[in-house]
Amino acid sequence: MARKTVLVCDSCGNEVDEGKGAVMRVTYTDARRGAKQADLCDPCAGRMPGRAAARRGRRPKSATAA
Ligand SMILES: [Zn+2]
Repeated sequence: MARKTVLVCDSCGNEVDEGKGAVMRVTYTDARRGAKQADLCDPCAGRMPGRAAARRGRRPKSATAA
Protein backbone atom coordinates (compact mmCIF):
# COMPACT_ATOMS: atom_id res chain seq x y z
CA MET A 1 0.00 0.00 0.00
CA ALA A 2 2.96 2.24 0.38
CA ARG A 3 3.19 2.77 -3.30
CA LYS A 4 3.97 6.14 -4.61
CA THR A 5 1.15 7.96 -6.24
CA VAL A 6 0.13 6.36 -9.48
CA LEU A 7 -0.97 8.60 -12.24
CA VAL A 8 -4.15 7.45 -13.87
CA CYS A 9 -5.33 8.54 -17.26
CA ASP A 10 -8.43 10.69 -16.91
CA SER A 11 -9.72 9.42 -20.21
CA CYS A 12 -9.34 5.66 -20.17
CA GLY A 13 -8.36 4.98 -16.58
CA ASN A 14 -5.14 3.23 -17.38
CA GLU A 15 -2.12 3.85 -15.30
CA VAL A 16 0.37 6.22 -16.77
CA ASP A 17 3.97 5.22 -16.36
CA GLU A 18 6.35 7.69 -14.95
CA GLY A 19 7.90 9.78 -17.62
CA LYS A 20 5.04 9.02 -19.97
CA GLY A 21 1.68 10.45 -20.72
CA ALA A 22 0.63 14.06 -20.97
CA VAL A 23 -1.32 16.72 -19.21
CA MET A 24 -4.06 18.42 -21.17
CA ARG A 25 -4.85 21.82 -19.82
CA VAL A 26 -7.98 23.72 -20.72
CA THR A 27 -7.94 27.37 -19.97
CA TYR A 28 -11.11 29.31 -20.46
CA THR A 29 -10.88 32.61 -22.19
CA ASP A 30 -13.06 33.93 -19.40
CA ALA A 31 -10.47 33.90 -16.67
CA ARG A 32 -13.13 33.70 -14.00
CA ARG A 33 -13.94 30.19 -15.14
CA GLY A 34 -10.43 29.20 -14.38
CA ALA A 35 -8.93 26.15 -15.93
CA LYS A 36 -9.01 22.43 -15.74
CA GLN A 37 -6.60 19.77 -16.67
CA ALA A 38 -6.53 16.10 -17.31
CA ASP A 39 -3.82 13.55 -17.02
CA LEU A 40 -3.63 11.43 -20.13
CA CYS A 41 -1.73 8.40 -21.23
CA ASP A 42 0.15 8.58 -24.48
CA PRO A 43 -2.53 6.94 -26.65
CA CYS A 44 -5.29 9.14 -25.26
CA ALA A 45 -3.19 12.24 -25.61
CA GLY A 46 -2.78 11.39 -29.26
CA ARG A 47 -6.54 11.16 -29.70
CA MET A 48 -7.22 14.55 -28.17
CA PRO A 49 -7.99 17.43 -30.43
CA GLY A 50 -5.47 20.15 -30.73
CA ARG A 51 -2.37 20.98 -32.58
CA ALA A 52 1.24 21.23 -31.83
CA ALA A 53 1.94 24.27 -29.77
CA ALA A 54 5.18 26.04 -29.21
CA ARG A 55 6.51 25.67 -25.74
CA ARG A 56 7.13 29.34 -25.28
CA GLY A 57 3.73 30.74 -24.64
CA ARG A 58 2.66 33.68 -26.63
CA ARG A 59 -0.03 34.54 -24.16
CA PRO A 60 0.74 37.62 -22.15
CA LYS A 61 -0.72 36.07 -19.05
CA SER A 62 1.70 34.24 -16.85
CA ALA A 63 1.50 30.58 -17.62
CA THR A 64 1.91 28.63 -14.46
CA ALA A 65 4.62 26.11 -14.94
CA ALA A 66 3.35 22.69 -14.09
ZN1 LIG B 1 -5.73 6.93 -21.56
